Amino acid sequence: MKKKGNLFVICGPSGVGKGTVCKELLKRRPDIKLSISATTRKKRNGELEGVNYYFISKENFQDMINKDEFWEYAEVYGNLYGTPKKYVLEHINNGEDVLLEIDIQGALQIKEKYPEGVFIFILPPSMKELRNRIVNRGTDSKESIEKRLKAAFREIDFIDKYDYYIINDKLENSISKLISIIEAEKCRVKDDIYKLIQKYKEEAK
Ligand code: 5GP
Repeated sequence: MKKKGNLFVICGPSGVGKGTVCKELLKRRPDIKLSISATTRKKRNGELEGVNYYFISKENFQDMINKDEFWEYAEVYGNLYGTPKKYVLEHINNGEDVLLEIDIQGALQIKEKYPEGVFIFILPPSMKELRNRIVNRGTDSKESIEKRLKAAFREIDFIDKYDYYIINDKLENSISKLISIIEAEKCRVKDDIYKLIQKYKEEAK
């Protein structure tokens, strides 16, 4: 049996900069496959179909739920988001590492289904800084900012579900920590090591 790839699940409050961290990681590590989610939210300026998301209708989303095509899905700030199962499982089974950037509800569902995944939580340097980042993004109303900050406090309470945390102070520091985590996980002793050990033993015969 082929050595499975690793699943990395990146999670963190809205505005923490997890999208930027993931984008930069993928530039440096094109070997890592990003799972493209499906969503019912409207496309923002500059976003591309099949690159940022698969933008689909509520009916099509429901159809995918009915056909059990999602590995997880959740409603986030009034829109539906889901991870198509096929892409992720095919790549993991093919020995490739896969990255998911999803919300906490999705991460908890994946944790149940696939506990061998590596769960990474991105924290802001402070809550004041998180507020600044959401405000400076300029995409949220006052009400939406308060909603996101409240949600951030709820999400932080689930930190014990994660394997690692990264405080996103400077992008360069966060990337280097993330790459260290990825490399460390590749060296973790797991069941698949026995095949390699067996090979060594046979070579020594
Ligand atoms: P945005 O609309 O700003 O791109 O994303 C809003 C939130 O939805 C972010 O927290 C993002 O991580 C999350 N999200 C994106 N794709 C998925 C997905 O497939 N499943 C879940 N559960 N959350 C997702």
